[in-house]
Amino acid sequence: MTDNCIFCKIIAGEIPSAKVYEDEKMLVFKDIEPKAKVHLLAVPKVHFKLLSEMDEKKAEILSHMFTKIPGIAKENGCKNGYRLVINQGDDAGQTVFHLHVHILGGESLPISIV
Ligand code: AMP
Ligand code: ZN
Repeated sequence: MTDNCIFCKIIAGEIPSAKVYEDEKMLVFKDIEPKAKVHLLAVPKVHFKLLSEMDEKKAEILSHMFTKIPGIAKENGCKNGYRLVINQGDDAGQTVFHLHVHILGGESLPISIV
């Protein structure tokens, strides 16, 4: 738990969230300002900000998350595909500095820059 991290507070249950999935390594909840019909955030329970801070243990957690995400996306309304976004740092517009994977779908998404 890192002080003043909103996602750590959500993980600790100090701030409410609309949880859709939880296990010992990760939490998935609805984004408070959805940018698509389905907009979920998958977060590791350990706090770190950037992929560049990853070590073997954190890599295992990320691997676990990416194993779970397809099923979670499907169960939550992403029947025809979805987009994953991981903003990294200021140029990407990261606003919450606890690593998270955006899961976007539930509709045909606007064309992205990639
Ligand atoms: P990013 O800009 O990639 O750091 O994404 C942060 C995301 O967290 C944004 O899409 C916000 O809408 C979302 N967010 C911020 N606070 C909350 C909250 N309390 N509950 C759910 N989502 C949140
Ligand atoms: Zn945190």
